[in-house]
Amino acid sequence: MSADCIFCKIANGSIPSNKIYEDDELIAFNDINPSAKVHFLIVPKMHIESLAGCESQHQTLLGKVLLLAPKLAQEQGLAGFKTLINTGKDGGQEVFHLHVHVMGGGASRPKS
Ligand code: 5GP
Ligand code: ZN
Repeated sequence: MSADCIFCKIANGSIPSNKIYEDDELIAFNDINPSAKVHFLIVPKMHIESLAGCESQHQTLLGKVLLLAPKLAQEQGLAGFKTLINTGKDGGQEVFHLHVHVMGGGASRPKS
């Protein structure tokens, strides 16, 4: 947990979210400013700043994040979807807690 991190606060329930999935390691919730009809974020509960902060010890966790994407996309009614991981300020990352965007269902505009 990082004290000032909004996704840590969502993960521990101190900030509300429109949650669509939760287990011991992961949480998924709808993006507050959606770029598509369906736009949710898959977030490891563990505070990792970005994909660039991942190491070999995170390999299994990263696999779980990716494997959850098609499962939740199907549950949300998507026949196909886009995934996006913004990494670093220059990569368009705004929240520095690792997350994967999953978007679909039309009206999708690519996030820069
Ligand atoms: P990034 O640019 O870091 O990849 O994307 C961060 C995403 O988090 C943005 O799409 C933004 O709309 C979303 N976001 C930021 N703050 C909150 C929040 O408090 N709740 C939810 N549900 N989404 C948020
Ligand atoms: Zn965090």
